[in-house]
Amino acid sequence: MNPNFLQTPIAYLKGVGPSRADVLKAELGIETYRDLLHLFPNRYLDRTSYYKINQLQPSGADVQVVGKIIHLKMVEQKRGKRLVATFVDETGQMELVWFRGHKWIKESLKINEPYVVFGRVSQYGSTFSIPHPEMELLHKHQQGLKIAMQPIFPSTEKLSASGITNRVVSKMVQQLLLESKGYFPESLSKDILEELRLIPKAEALFNIHFPKNQELLARAQFRLKFEELFFVQMQLISKKMLRKQKIKGLPFENVGEHFTTFFENHLPFELTEAQKRVIKEIRNDMGSNAQMNRLLQGDVGSGKTIVALMCMLLAIDNGFQACLMAPTEILATQHYNGLKELLVNMDIKIALLTGSTKKSERTLLHNQLENGNLNILVGTHAILEDKVQFHNLGLAIVDEQHRFGVAQRSKLWHKSSPKGGGAPPHILVMTATPIPRTLAMSLYGDLDVSVIDELPPGRKPITTVHRFDNNRLKVFGFLKEEIKKGRQVYIVYPLIQESEAMDYKDLMDGYESIARDFPQPEYQISIVHGQMKPADKDYEMERFVKGETQIMVATTVIEVGVNVPNASVMIIESAERFGLSQLHQLRGRVGRGAEQSFCILMTGHKLSEDAKTRLQTMTSTNDGFEIAEVDLKLRGPGDLMGTQQSGLLTLKIADIVKDNQILQTARYHVLQLLKNDPKLEKEENAPVLRAFTRMMAQKTIWNYIS
Ligand code: ADP
Ligand code: MG
Repeated sequence: MNPNFLQTPIAYLKGVGPSRADVLKAELGIETYRDLLHLFPNRYLDRTSYYKINQLQPSGADVQVVGKIIHLKMVEQKRGKRLVATFVDETGQMELVWFRGHKWIKESLKINEPYVVFGRVSQYGSTFSIPHPEMELLHKHQQGLKIAMQPIFPSTEKLSASGITNRVVSKMVQQLLLESKGYFPESLSKDILEELRLIPKAEALFNIHFPKNQELLARAQFRLKFEELFFVQMQLISKKMLRKQKIKGLPFENVGEHFTTFFENHLPFELTEAQKRVIKEIRNDMGSNAQMNRLLQGDVGSGKTIVALMCMLLAIDNGFQACLMAPTEILATQHYNGLKELLVNMDIKIALLTGSTKKSERTLLHNQLENGNLNILVGTHAILEDKVQFHNLGLAIVDEQHRFGVAQRSKLWHKSSPKGGGAPPHILVMTATPIPRTLAMSLYGDLDVSVIDELPPGRKPITTVHRFDNNRLKVFGFLKEEIKKGRQVYIVYPLIQESEAMDYKDLMDGYESIARDFPQPEYQISIVHGQMKPADKDYEMERFVKGETQIMVATTVIEVGVNVPNASVMIIESAERFGLSQLHQLRGRVGRGAEQSFCILMTGHKLSEDAKTRLQTMTSTNDGFEIAEVDLKLRGPGDLMGTQQSGLLTLKIADIVKDNQILQTARYHVLQLLKNDPKLEKEENAPVLRAFTRMMAQKTIWNYIS
C-alpha cells in the first residue's frame, strides 16, 4: 500500500471527480482521502428495529415499518399533484406520499407485496404519513442486511443541491474503505491498546462509519475520542516540556530589599493563605532556570493585584523591570493609582501608559523605560507598540487575560530583555473568569496554573435576587434606602454589538427615568458608556469613585476590575441578555467593602430555558468556579472562551465537556508515556511517534495560543 494513500486528492476517488471535489472542499473542507475518512457521521439510523403502524408517534424520528401497499392514487390540489399510497400492516394503516417523480415511482411500486419502508414520520389530522420513503421489497431487504446501522453524515444545503446526498457520501466512504483494504496504520502503542482494551485503528474507522452493532459503535467512538484527546494532550505537554528545557529563563535568585521591605512595612493587610501559597509558587518558578508561563486564577475580589505587585517587586530586586497590562483604560488607571499608593513610601518609579497619554509625556516615558530609570510600567495594550522598548523587562503581567487576543499576548514574549541575553520575560496571566479544570487542561495544558481559592476575610457574601420589570418601583425604593445609608449603586445596561443603536436608546431611556425618580440635588448620577470621550468617562468615573455621585448608570464598560468599596448595590437591567461569566464579573463590582451587598437581576417575564438557568445559578451561588461549570455546559467550550479562541477547540469527535473522563485518561497516559520515553525512541512507541510527527507537520492539531 502506498504510504501516501490517504494524501490522495479526493477528486481521484471513484465516484467523485473534479466538480464534486470542488463542492466537497467548499462545503466540508474535504480535500484528501484522509479528510473524507475523518468525516464522521453525526448520527446513525438504527435499522435493526421495526415499528408497527399503531406504535408510530409524530416525533419526527426515522422509522422502519413492514407492510403492503393496498392502494395508489394521484391527488391534485392547487399547490400541485402528489402520489399517495395507502400502506397497511396488521395493526393499522398509513400513507406514503411523493411530491416528485410520480410517474417513475408509480410504475416501480408493487401492490400487495411486502415492503420495508423507511423514513421520517409526520402527521396530518389523524393519519400518519412518510413523505418520500426509502422502499425495499422485504425479501431483498432480508438478503441485503449488511449495514445494520445507517450513518448520517454532516451535510449542507449546497451539498444536497449538488446531488451529494447522504447516500452518495456513504457510497464515497464505502469506496474509500474498500480501496484502502483496511490499511490504516495503528497510531497508539500496544501497551495502551491493551491496557484500555481499545479496538485497533482500522476496526474503529470501519465501525465509526458503518457500525455492525451498537456495541462496536460505542467502542469505535471511545477509541477515536481517546486518540484525538491523546494527541492534543501530547502536543500541549511536549510543548511545555520543550519550553522548560529549551527556553532559558531569567533566574530571579534574590528575594531582596524591596520585596522584604514592602512585606514587613507597607503591606496594608495580612495576606490570605492562598495569596501566600501562590506567591511562593510564582517565586519558585521565577527562581528556576526556566521561563515562567503561568496562569493565575482567582475569583473577583480574591486579591490578585497585591500578588502581582509582590511579583513585580521580585523582578525589581533582581535588577529587572516589570509591566502590568490591563484591558481598559479605566482599569489600567485604577491599577496605576492603587499601586502608586501602595508604593508611596518606597523608592520605586512607576508610570502609566495608555492611548490617551500625551505625546510629550510619552517621549519622556519611552526614554526612561529604555535607560532603565523606570521600574514598573502599567498600561493598556499601548504597551505592546513597537516603540515601547524596555531596558530589561523581566516580568510581564496580563490582567483579565480573556480580553486579550492571542497575537497581543504573544507580542509580550518578544519584548525581550537584552540583559537576559534575549531571554523572554516571565509571563503571568491573571484571570477572574474561572476556567473549569477540564477546559484549563485542554486550552492551557502547557501553562502552569496557580489558583487563589480563598477570599480575604470579613467579606459578606453578596445577596442576589431576581426581580421582574414591573417591580421596578419597589426596587427603586430599596435603592433609596441604601443610598440614605450612604451606599452607592451601579445600574448596568447591556450593550451588544448587533443591537448597539437600540441598546443606547435603552440606556438613555433608562437614564432619564432614573433621573426623574432620583431628582437632584438630593441624588447625583454619573453615566459612563462607550460612546463618550475618554476624558469625559474618566471625569464621571472619578466623581463616582470619590463619592460625589451615588448612582452610576453604565454599560458593561465597568465590567472588569473597577474597585469602589462603598458601592454595595448592583442592578443589572435585561439580565437575561448577559452571559453567566459576565453576570458574575459585574456582580463582583460590589461586595468589596464591609457592608452587606446586593445584586438585583432585572428581567421581563419572557425568559428562555437557558436564561432561567443562568438567573437561577446566579441567585444560588457566589462561587465563580461553580458558575463557570454551568456556563461551560450551557454554552460549550467555544463560546466560553470567546470567538477569538473558539477555533482552538474544533475537535472532530471528542467533546471537552462530555468526554471529560476520557480527557483525563488521555492526559494521564501521555504523561506516563513521556515520562518513560520522552523522545519516543522505544520500538513499541514507534506508532505514536509516526502519527504525532505527521500531525505536527500538518498542523492538524490545534495551533496553540501562547
Ligand atoms: P481581584 O482579584 O478581583 O483583582 P483585587 O486585587 O482588586 O481583587 O482585590 C480586591 C480588594 O481586596 C482590594 O480592595 C484589596 O485591597 C483587597 N484585598 C486583597 N487582599 C486582601 C487581604 N489579604 N486582606 C484584606 N483585603 C485584601
Ligand atoms: Mg483585578
